[in-house]
Amino acid sequence: MTAAEKFKVTNLLNIASDSLFRGYYSSEKNYQLEDDAPPQSLLTANCSPLLSLEQIADEIRACINCPLCETRTNAAPGEGVTEPLVMVIGEGPGRDEDEQGRPFVGRAGQLLDKMLDSIGLSRNSNCFIANVIKCRPPNNRDPYPEETSACAHFLEQQIALLKPKFILVAGRIAAQTLLKTTEPIGKLRGKFTEFETGGMTIPLLVIYHPAALLRNEDLKRPTWEDLKLLRSRLDESKGKN
Ligand code: SF4
Repeated sequence: MTAAEKFKVTNLLNIASDSLFRGYYSSEKNYQLEDDAPPQSLLTANCSPLLSLEQIADEIRACINCPLCETRTNAAPGEGVTEPLVMVIGEGPGRDEDEQGRPFVGRAGQLLDKMLDSIGLSRNSNCFIANVIKCRPPNNRDPYPEETSACAHFLEQQIALLKPKFILVAGRIAAQTLLKTTEPIGKLRGKFTEFETGGMTIPLLVIYHPAALLRNEDLKRPTWEDLKLLRSRLDESKGKN
């Protein structure tokens, strides 16, 4: 049995015993935190992040908390400015991102850059771009819930450090993961949600993933409406400052 198969079987057992994140392991590698480690969510309303962005990135690159560490070429921790107006959060690295260790650098990433640019945003000047999962799932499959959960504390720490004014979520997986819902993306997009994390409340907007736009032209118009909505909220907030 491969490590990945062992991981899935073990997690099923762990779900049944309500101990999903305490003690699963393979005989080859222990993927889990120590038994006495804190829960996966390392941040609370009263807990300050202890690490810098670069320290978090180093931990991500060295992470073996789930089996995706075995199949990744490079983890993609995230990139952008350190005091972002907008934090863009996608699903996870694809092939290009895995090769380069950077988020959103393939065709979909180039489209994302154009979409951001159309409303005055850029990873070079006022955005930080990251994913809910930092290592590429094989063949770009959807990440398993156990994998997104194992990875969640990294994103929480990044948000806590970056303190973005707005969060833009790209795609169904990232939206459902962050909002803890199974609602379809068609119902999640088109409106702002107040996202609460680490004692902060951040306006969050969901859009279709740029990869979906590449596959389906019909999604471009509603996505443009969503981007205009974000732009108008950014302008409003500028007027208040
Ligand atoms: S996906 Fe996240 S939890 Fe899994 S190995 Fe990569 S950094 Fe660690």
